Amino acid sequence: MKRMTKKNEYFLAVVLAALGVTLLFVCLVVGIFRGIFSGKEVVKKPEIDYSVIQVAKPEMQEMYLTKNVNSRPGILLEKVRGVVVHYTANPGTDARANRNYFESRKEEPDEKGNKVSSHFIIGLDGRILCCVPENEIAYASNVRNGDTLSIECCHPDKTGRFNQATYQSLVRLVAYLCDKYELEQSGIIRHYDVTGKKCPKHMVDHPEAWADFKKEVVAYLKKCRIKK
Ligand SMILES: [Zn+2]
Repeated sequence: MKRMTKKNEYFLAVVLAALGVTLLFVCLVVGIFRGIFSGKEVVKKPEIDYSVIQVAKPEMQEMYLTKNVNSRPGILLEKVRGVVVHYTANPGTDARANRNYFESRKEEPDEKGNKVSSHFIIGLDGRILCCVPENEIAYASNVRNGDTLSIECCHPDKTGRFNQATYQSLVRLVAYLCDKYELEQSGIIRHYDVTGKKCPKHMVDHPEAWADFKKEVVAYLKKCRIKK
């Protein structure tokens, strides 16, 4: 076998060195680009772009409870981080009756010693009553009283299923509050998600009904896109 000449050895060394430098350069460039792109991935895109959504305030009637220690303590609700859906567990009763029940508890807690109230109550006719202002806490959602708004829904029977009028108002009200406080979908919760209590009963017994409800809220938000 023919031995390499000095000149050939030198040439080979130069080629290998050039290859090495090129490889290093390629690695460096790829590394920088991957860094840039992975950096972009870290910035999470919001689920819902509220800058292009405007939900009209649904019609609602203010029937605030009188300030009292048991149902309207007047404690400031600093930041709304969620909306909690409830059912009244009182079949066939309307919104006003439930509101008056909260009012009647101003002197003492309920029979179990619980303080009870809610920001909103939606009646069987779909009308929305406001019982506690949105910037004050209500006593409905246990450990989440301090950073959520509560909605009690009336229902015709023991199944706890909301009728169409109540359901449609609930979709509109939750969408409106989501827009107003720029809530993520994870901020829409059931009382069940806070304490494990079967509330709202039908949407705990039928998780698919709860999933459908959240989808309807998102669909409603998308319908409220501002046309530019
Ligand atoms: Zn509840």
